[in-house]
Amino acid sequence: MKIGVIGTGVIGLSSAVALRRRGFTDVTVYFRDDLPATTSSRAGAVFTPFDAGSHAEWIAGSLRAFREMARTQPHSGVCIGTAHEYLPGDAPIPAWTGIVGGVHVWEHAATPPSPTAHGFDIDVPMMDMRVYLAWLKTLALELGVRFVQRDIGSFDEVFASGTDAIVNCAGLGARELCLDRAMRPMRGQLLHVPNALGLTDAIAAPEADGDVTYVYPFPDYIVLGGTYELDESRCETDDASLARILLRSRRLLSAHTNRNADALGETILRRVAGLRPTRVINGCHECVRLELERSPAGPIIHNYGHGRAGVTLSWGCANAVAKLLHAETDANAALREPRVSAGHTLSDAYGTTSLGAITPRPGPRVQG
Ligand SMILES: Cc1cc2nc3c(=O)[nH]c(=O)nc-3n(C[C@H](O)[C@H](O)[C@H](O)COP(=O)(O)OP(=O)(O)OC[C@H]3O[C@@H](n4cnc5c(N)ncnc54)[C@H](O)[C@@H]3O)c2cc1C
Repeated sequence: MKIGVIGTGVIGLSSAVALRRRGFTDVTVYFRDDLPATTSSRAGAVFTPFDAGSHAEWIAGSLRAFREMARTQPHSGVCIGTAHEYLPGDAPIPAWTGIVGGVHVWEHAATPPSPTAHGFDIDVPMMDMRVYLAWLKTLALELGVRFVQRDIGSFDEVFASGTDAIVNCAGLGARELCLDRAMRPMRGQLLHVPNALGLTDAIAAPEADGDVTYVYPFPDYIVLGGTYELDESRCETDDASLARILLRSRRLLSAHTNRNADALGETILRRVAGLRPTRVINGCHECVRLELERSPAGPIIHNYGHGRAGVTLSWGCANAVAKLLHAETDANAALREPRVSAGHTLSDAYGTTSLGAITPRPGPRVQG
């Protein structure tokens, strides 16, 4: 069965790997923008769920995958780090912390950052996107996924080239491909600065104007953020926003640890802007569309609209896509190749280890 995945952001790459893991042998990723130009390359990225209700299963699935990567794949750019999360006023501890577990609320902790601060500490996955996406693409290539740069004008165009099923991970591109007017850009701006202070923990605090100030440290740099500018579609930074981010980050670091905060960002490595693929319905900004559409030409599984949480939800959603397509084509399962080559293991969480030994070859065609 020939599967065409549209998009090489974190959602498309994870979906392609998950499909291979579930036994789909012929997977091609079509993309307009390659890695450095995607939104995904510009993400923070710390595990930050927003909607614990409808996203609970995806959050749990992603958490399992990232924890396993952190444990077994030292070069993946994924690690588990401590995040210190401030909350506004007397806001409740967010429900997603219950899925992650191990939350330490400051009121009950031995050493809160300040007597008046309200928040919590939690250990979460942290993804160095400069390393992680390159690692993920290599993983996909090793699994035999093909990559074709092509601007897709319509799903019919992909079916016409012999594809049996499409997985639509086009992010903001879904606005045109699916005429989905709920898709709206949300610009995010951030700075990369050297990690001269040797920071290890993430810190995040909401601001009164709706932005969130965050300091996400990685071995080679620190991400300072950020802005949440709905309907701003210019993918460029502005100096005033970046100056505000730097000021707020220094203030946050100073309030939190009193460490040499003024030295933060003395040198700027990179100024970054990205457009989050936000799907806004009834005030919800991460109204992810993950569903099967049975078009006359063949099945299309939509997986887009992850807004502020695409990295966080990526593996949960990718595994859900693979399960959906598997169920859809179950009648033909006997035609498929065995899921795992003899002697090689594929992890349940995200499908890696001993990858070089998997020999991809075209699978038998299945009626769509
Ligand atoms: C500044 C910033 C900070 C962020 N921080 C975090 C964070 O800390 N944690 C977190 O979980 N998330 C974070 N996010 C959100 C996260 O980056 C996004 O949710 C995620 O990257 C969306 O991934 P995607 O694959 O859907 O989209 P993209 O990365 O935009 O990929 C879309 C792909 O589809 C392709 N495409 C689109 N249309 C077509 C077409 N017609 N033909 C061919 N190809 C097409 C594009 O070329 C691209 O390859 C952040 C985002 C920003 C901007």
